[in-house]
Amino acid sequence: MSLAANILFYQFQAMSTPESPFASYHLWSLVAPATSQQRWHCQMRRGFIKARQHEPQVKALSATASASQRIGLLAQKGVYEFHHHKYLLDRSDGVEQVAQILKLSASTEEVQQRVRQILQNYHNDPLLLDKQIVLLTRGDEGFPKPILITQQNYRFRLYAAMDCVFIESDRTLHILDFKTGKSPFDQRQALVYLLAARYLYPSYQAVASFYNLELSKKSEVISVTQSELDAIELEIAHIAQKHQQDLQKYQQQNNHFSQVFLPNPGYHCRFCPFHSICEFSGVKSSSA
Ligand code: SF4
Repeated sequence: MSLAANILFYQFQAMSTPESPFASYHLWSLVAPATSQQRWHCQMRRGFIKARQHEPQVKALSATASASQRIGLLAQKGVYEFHHHKYLLDRSDGVEQVAQILKLSASTEEVQQRVRQILQNYHNDPLLLDKQIVLLTRGDEGFPKPILITQQNYRFRLYAAMDCVFIESDRTLHILDFKTGKSPFDQRQALVYLLAARYLYPSYQAVASFYNLELSKKSEVISVTQSELDAIELEIAHIAQKHQQDLQKYQQQNNHFSQVFLPNPGYHCRFCPFHSICEFSGVKSSSA
């Protein structure tokens, strides 16, 4: 998930009703595992996040941002502040100034250390310097307006919270997603952005890439043909439809939660935010 989307998907839950199919990279990642992650992929987790999100316990567990989510958001805000106050990129105390804007001292030691390193990395090598920036989000703006995609056989709303969009010198539109931590880039996120760009920036050729702010590491640049984009759109439409059907099934017989959203318990449950309330959890909690 993008840093912006990472923080914002909880707001998104309130907007998702069984009556209106929607899709996003986040939904795609909950429906289908990334390559090599099949073993610990759990559909019940999607059920908690997308079907039971309004229950007080689920809401409380969802709202607890992990250290890595906080680092992601602060890193994104840091990049935004460097470009909002561009002179800070030239100042020797630029990192300190941005740290103060972010009120970094209020965070835990781990968060402070890692975000300070990210700010230092970016100050040393500001990737967006001299780029023609079209969009650069702080990461806490609220969820973007959905794109309504209507074709003969399907109709759905696409949500794509982009971190950054800029124009290359050859007029190519480049969508950049910032990352932190060690998770591998998931190409599907870039594909969702490229599909969104087809509707948001129709006069541009678009490419997408990732940049890990913590490791100062760029991904390859991802591009697709129009026919590949058609196939991606169809796949995402199926995901939207499947999820809507699951929501409807759950709504009709909500005592069958585990039959609609199948659990996949295991060691990975200890990293699941819902393990304390999940009756299938592989983690034994003293309070459960
Ligand atoms: S605790 Fe385990 S089984 Fe339950 S939702 Fe989370 S990953 Fe799935």
